[in-house]
Amino acid sequence: MSEQRLDGKVSIVTGGASGIGAATVRLFAEKGAYVVIADIQDELGKEVATSIGTDKVTYRHCDVRDEKQVEETVAFTVDKYGGLDIMFSNAGVGGSQSSVLDLDLKDFDNTMAVNLRGYAVCIKHAARVMVARKTRGSIICTASTVGSESVSGFDGKGYVSSKSAILGLVRTTCGDLGEYGIRVNSISPYLVATPLASKVLNLDATKVEELGVAAANLKGIVLKPIHIAQAALFLASDQSAYVSGHDLVVDGGFLAVNQTFKFIQQSSKA
Ligand code: NAD
Repeated sequence: MSEQRLDGKVSIVTGGASGIGAATVRLFAEKGAYVVIADIQDELGKEVATSIGTDKVTYRHCDVRDEKQVEETVAFTVDKYGGLDIMFSNAGVGGSQSSVLDLDLKDFDNTMAVNLRGYAVCIKHAARVMVARKTRGSIICTASTVGSESVSGFDGKGYVSSKSAILGLVRTTCGDLGEYGIRVNSISPYLVATPLASKVLNLDATKVEELGVAAANLKGIVLKPIHIAQAALFLASDQSAYVSGHDLVVDGGFLAVNQTFKFIQQSSKA
């Protein structure tokens, strides 16, 4: 299998200042792409760009809740690098945790505005320039395993709803854009120790990783942002040329194996 390269491809990575997004920015640049980091953490975003090289990576403030900012970021990218081949819509917030009985709708709306509406806006404006420029582009969205199976004890109502809805958004937009040769896919990661995960779980990164490993199906490996970045690279590259409307689950088999029976057996022995 030849190496996955993105030579000369132009990409936008939302949420590229941190975690999964930052790892993807690094990998895309290493594989030859130009990258615009679109985020709201300006200092961090600029640091990521500078540490890689501002000839290949540019930071741009872009709040994905604001359609105008997304549209302008897409226009900026096309102007600076001459096109747009890859949109990695990845920015996300965890939102608050509660039972539906205590649901804070303001927080719910904000989570949906970033994690779902923001994705629709990114797909819309990326697709518009790809269609206008006849670019056979790749659009990738970060969903989550919780979008396919709600995890008992994880109470992020906005988060789970938004991640489920991303799967539908990917399917319906993949339907619109197939005739233009544009592919739309999602990635569903299992638990990765990032600032978002620490905030949601109220635990430091070491503890998040420790608990993630303990609950994981696949043993002997720790899921890191780079593993998700590698999935994004595959979906961005020509090696996934006929893959569209797909949710690439990166979870070591977590979703495939329901742990209920094991839990019952262990509990009955205790
Ligand atoms: P992270 O906190 O490291 O990164 C999220 C980034 O999104 C941050 O840089 C943040 O500034 C940016 N962001 C937040 N609101 C924004 C807005 N309005 N406009 C632009 N940027 C904004 O967390 P992460 O875990 O790397 O998250 C990346 C994606 O991965 C998210 O969509 C998250 O839901 C998803 N995800 C994470 C995990 C996990 O366990 N960490 C699992 C499944 C899915």
